[in-house]
Amino acid sequence: MQAVQAERFEDKEHELLTLSEYDVIIVQISGGKDSVACVLHLLERGISPEKIRLWHQEVDGRDRQFMDWPCTRRYLELFAQKFGLKLEFQWRKGGFLSELMKTNAVSAPIMFEHNGAVVALAAGQGAKVATRRRWPAMSASLQTRWCSSSLKIDVSTRVLNNHPELARPGLEILLVTGERREESSARAKYDEVLPHKSNSQRRRVDQWRMVIDWTEREVWAIFERFNLLPHPAYLLGFSRCSCFGCIFNTADLWAMMREIAPERFARLAYIERKIQFTIDNKLTLEEKANKGRLHRLPLDHPDFEKWKHWALSEDALQLEDLSGFVWPAGAMRGADGGSP
Ligand code: SF4
Repeated sequence: MQAVQAERFEDKEHELLTLSEYDVIIVQISGGKDSVACVLHLLERGISPEKIRLWHQEVDGRDRQFMDWPCTRRYLELFAQKFGLKLEFQWRKGGFLSELMKTNAVSAPIMFEHNGAVVALAAGQGAKVATRRRWPAMSASLQTRWCSSSLKIDVSTRVLNNHPELARPGLEILLVTGERREESSARAKYDEVLPHKSNSQRRRVDQWRMVIDWTEREVWAIFERFNLLPHPAYLLGFSRCSCFGCIFNTADLWAMMREIAPERFARLAYIERKIQFTIDNKLTLEEKANKGRLHRLPLDHPDFEKWKHWALSEDALQLEDLSGFVWPAGAMRGADGGSP
């Protein structure tokens, strides 16, 4: 492994400390290839696993499966176990479905794991009573694309501001995220390093988009170097794995979901009818899936049924399955089906 380099990273006026100077390095990990690549790159640079914390925001919370891939939690637990890393889950109580169906209510509390216990952060005093009953907009704006803000960014920021281990004055925290400029024209303009919004005079919090200039091929290359199995979504031909039912899914991706998990697809279509509001502003989910094709699903591959079982089960994947890189059918298909 490479030694930690004493280099500094500058972006406009902001500069990161040398990596070894941070007290803790938090990686926001979705289970997708880019955030996993960030962790592997830290390990490759010789960062001690004890210094790294993996934080994952569960979009569905703990009550029911609705939007997420069933295997994501399992994949992350095994990944953390394989590399000796500490993993903490965080979520908004009730998850995506509760927030979507919110009627004359404030948003549910934020929950996070700490030392084997679950801590709840209630909605603040100024929390507004509101009715949602609208899918997030397929837009770059986090105001209207409420899933990213309410279920991921707000959750992470509130935990960062209330985590008992992160309150010590003078603490230096690095938050690593996996956006890449290649993915979209909006991301192409992102800064690589910046002070995080929870940075204060009391403690330093820097954000580093560590793989921002990596190509997708470089991302898969680090999986190969570590001989690591990608998240099963990629094996099934999906180019992203954040939410199985992501609002940005293309017609092909909806058709693929309907093919491999018809009951999951039907539940989303049912909610569209129930709230009289469609995810796409022109087509129902059924109409959109009808326009899609299944050519990306590796139906003829001898391991297809095993991969599907891994993807759609909460506990089928085993630790030994993670040791073995497979070039996935979802690789090198661009960023279609992703947020702007
Ligand atoms: S993956 Fe898609 S549906 Fe899930 S939180 Fe992100 S934008 Fe929303």
